[in-house]
Amino acid sequence: MKAIVWQGVNKVGVETVPDPTLLLPTDAIIKITSTAICGSDLHLLDGFIPSMEKGDILGHEFMGEVVEVGKDVKKLKVGDRVIVPFNIACGVCDNCQRGNFAACDNSNPNHRMAEALYGATSGSALFGYSHMFGGYAGGQAQYVRVPFADVGPFKIETALRDEQVLFLTDIFPTGFQAAFNCDIVPGRDVVAVFGAGPVGQFAARSAQMLGAAHVIVIDRVPERLAMAEAAGCQVINYEKEDVLVALLEATGGRGPDHVIEAVGMEAHGHGPGAALDKLQQNLKLTFDRITALRWAILSCAKGGTVSIPGVYGGLVDKMPMGAAFGKGLVFKMGQTHTHRYLPDLLSRIESGQIDPSFVITHRATLDQAPELYKTFRDKKGGCIKVVLNPWA
Ligand code: NAD
Ligand code: ZN
Repeated sequence: MKAIVWQGVNKVGVETVPDPTLLLPTDAIIKITSTAICGSDLHLLDGFIPSMEKGDILGHEFMGEVVEVGKDVKKLKVGDRVIVPFNIACGVCDNCQRGNFAACDNSNPNHRMAEALYGATSGSALFGYSHMFGGYAGGQAQYVRVPFADVGPFKIETALRDEQVLFLTDIFPTGFQAAFNCDIVPGRDVVAVFGAGPVGQFAARSAQMLGAAHVIVIDRVPERLAMAEAAGCQVINYEKEDVLVALLEATGGRGPDHVIEAVGMEAHGHGPGAALDKLQQNLKLTFDRITALRWAILSCAKGGTVSIPGVYGGLVDKMPMGAAFGKGLVFKMGQTHTHRYLPDLLSRIESGQIDPSFVITHRATLDQAPELYKTFRDKKGGCIKVVLNPWA
């Protein structure tokens, strides 16, 4: 089959690789009909996440048709149309039982590697996301092996198009969880979202669905800000305005009640802390460009929530902890417990409350994907979300 593989830092390619086979009686094989490129793939592309190996198949946002099931799979049958959450969960460990699927204790056989490379436990395994997260082949391919097939795959039994449900695999639940974690008081709270990428877009719309009185989105890419504006958000271009001043002005001087950081560890900017960035660079410390997180902490109103869907790894230093402590902020973060939100989010799509396909700007084949990785990374040509058809 054809697949998108990691070929080294800043290098992905299309290769012909062996078709996946059932390895365990609880596995299923899915023929992929739609798959997407995610901001999280950029952390692999640029080498921020260690333990990628040449030839690893990328991709964790995919859906398709079940073509084979292991003998112990009970809930799926050949022909079922499913979306597959990006995190792999066993469904039976203590964390899965509590609904903390992204913290599954059983799915990542390489969790010791994660402890060594990442400084802490990894949470669940992930599709197409390095050996530290289990080394499972990803879904930017024609077929994929799905372990724990009775737990992850979620059947789509309505006539909704792939493009309307594909993002249930990751970025819609991720944006939703980020907003949900803010405990928004409907009709009262102001929510600011740093990052107008796909995750930020879904976080902003989820904050609106959860009743936020006002949503403010911060980025520097005009097309991304325009997409947020079209949804009724106020927008701030951090290259043109002083973010912290603009956020105070927009909130009567108190700051947003909650702040979502949907940027992650490659964030850049020139705000407060640039000197610290410089110092960290000089000291050759990793993950030095963390401006968005500093802005999030500094701007948030007293008693508010800083909700962080943006991905971080390893050590991050020079955080304004004095401000966080002084204001009594609540921090919530982490991989999304995707499985938890699926029934609710599917019903929101079915009822017409949201059509997630709004975020798609580029549709392409697997052969075009290596070029589109660069377009998406460089935020060129208005690129916000790329969907690939593995059979085109
Ligand atoms: P993306 O790279 O397309 O978007 C990031 C956006 O942040 C860009 O538009 C960029 O211009 C903007 N940005 C950079 N620095 C900024 C700053 N200082 N202030 C404001 N905006 C800034 O990525 P995405 O697909 O939207 O994903 C966003 C983050 O969410 C990534 O870190 C990704 O890994 C993470 N993510 C997390 C989960 C999870 O389970 N928690 C799931 C999916 C994605
Ligand atoms: Zn993703």
